[in-house]
Amino acid sequence: MHNVTLTPEYDNQNGWQEILDTPAEPTILTGDIRCDYLIIGAGYSGLAVTRRLAELDPEASVVLIEGDRIGNNAAGRSSGFAIDHAHNLRAKSFADAQAAAIAGVTMNRAGLDYLDATITSHAIDCQWVKEGKYHAAATSRGEGMLDNFAESLDAIDEDYSMLGATECQEIFGTPYYTKALHAPHSYLVQPAAMVRGLADTMPENVSIYERSMVTSVEYADATAGSTNHTVHTDRGSASAPIIVLATNGFTEGFGFLQKHLIPLITWGSMTRELTDDESVRLGGHESYGIIAAHPAGTSVRRVTTPNNRLLVRNIFSFSKRSDFTSRVDWAAKTHRKAFESRWPELADVPFEHSWGGALSLSRNGEPVFGELRPNVYGTVVHNGVGIARGTISGKLLAEMILGHDSELLRQMLAKGRPNRNLPFQDLGVRINARARRMIAGREE
Ligand SMILES: Cc1cc2nc3c(=O)[nH]c(=O)nc-3n(C[C@H](O)[C@H](O)[C@H](O)COP(=O)(O)OP(=O)(O)OC[C@H]3O[C@@H](n4cnc5c(N)ncnc54)[C@H](O)[C@@H]3O)c2cc1C
Repeated sequence: MHNVTLTPEYDNQNGWQEILDTPAEPTILTGDIRCDYLIIGAGYSGLAVTRRLAELDPEASVVLIEGDRIGNNAAGRSSGFAIDHAHNLRAKSFADAQAAAIAGVTMNRAGLDYLDATITSHAIDCQWVKEGKYHAAATSRGEGMLDNFAESLDAIDEDYSMLGATECQEIFGTPYYTKALHAPHSYLVQPAAMVRGLADTMPENVSIYERSMVTSVEYADATAGSTNHTVHTDRGSASAPIIVLATNGFTEGFGFLQKHLIPLITWGSMTRELTDDESVRLGGHESYGIIAAHPAGTSVRRVTTPNNRLLVRNIFSFSKRSDFTSRVDWAAKTHRKAFESRWPELADVPFEHSWGGALSLSRNGEPVFGELRPNVYGTVVHNGVGIARGTISGKLLAEMILGHDSELLRQMLAKGRPNRNLPFQDLGVRINARARRMIAGREE
């Protein structure tokens, strides 16, 4: 029996989740159940593996177990940029590695296509719109990064448009930004509504249990004649011959990848609903998403009706245990500064929610994908592209389990795997995060 020693601890501060209607009471796992496939974790990866297994094997029973409420996890706490190429502008090296860059974009777009098809066919109400994303600069360093990014996009034949300061002000309602690059193929979404909608529209052979944190697991042991893995929660257990861990950085708790993942928290804050008068004061377009030119800068969303709010996200902190409470005031203060410097005329508009969410990175940026031990599979580490990459990884993992083959699957399998963390990795991450914040300067 393996005790799951690392589990997430969530608060109820996720703005995206809190502004939705209260969800129906969850179905909690009780008693002992058996199924054909058991998936742990209902973020983007877990939802995609579950749906794809159920689609491809409609006679099988597929069970998805989530420790908290769907929508309150990192997936529902994200900023809702469903993007096709990464946030960070890798400047020259991006253009140097053209084939890899094209493959990465193709992979991400396959994830977005799968989401688009699902959301459209089930009419999931989650403000899913293909508005593209703006990378915007507020410093001359940032402007230079945008130029490098444009060069990289030219090298891989991607379309985009460049905007000057006047156009930025027309769209964003602030003179803060001096230049922006608009990349048209990304979507914006209300992330908590999306993951809840994805869960609500699963094929009939799927059962979902929430508020059912897995606290221990017995892995099958063929030498002892056991072919089922069994997971235990406070009130029940579930067994299956195949399990999938879609548990983000908490996969370490299941006995895998120790010292190979870098657990981070990043933070978001959302205003209360803007009044009509404040909307007029703000000006600009009713909906957009801005990613700072500098990777350590502030992302911004203006969220349109029915919500009409502004969201800012910035800073990263190192935390294995998803400690959201002790640092949330510190994060909110940084958000306040970013907000008021962009929209001083809205300085009297308070944040209604500030929250953190768990990310897991690897030192070399490589993902966890595939079999971790016999019939135990995992898909973890989607860097800053969790919506697209988490979804396509989950979909491809299901196809791999069922013996399908495709070019994308081969590409995913050919990727490297996370390398081992350095000694004192947490200290290194903290120093790095602080240095990057200083360099980001006004773009934070
Ligand atoms: C503030 C913020 C903003 C972000 N913005 C964006 C963005 O705009 N675009 C983008 O693409 N990405 C963004 N991300 C990243 C994205 O949210 C993550 O990459 C993505 O959620 C990872 O998906 P996942 O399925 O691997 O993990 P998660 O979404 O974390 O899902 C893992 C699930 O496993 C569950 N779990 C873990 N352990 C157990 C257990 N023992 N028992 C039961 N359940 C368990 C967790 O509760 C969780 O629900 C953002 C992240 C944050 C925090």
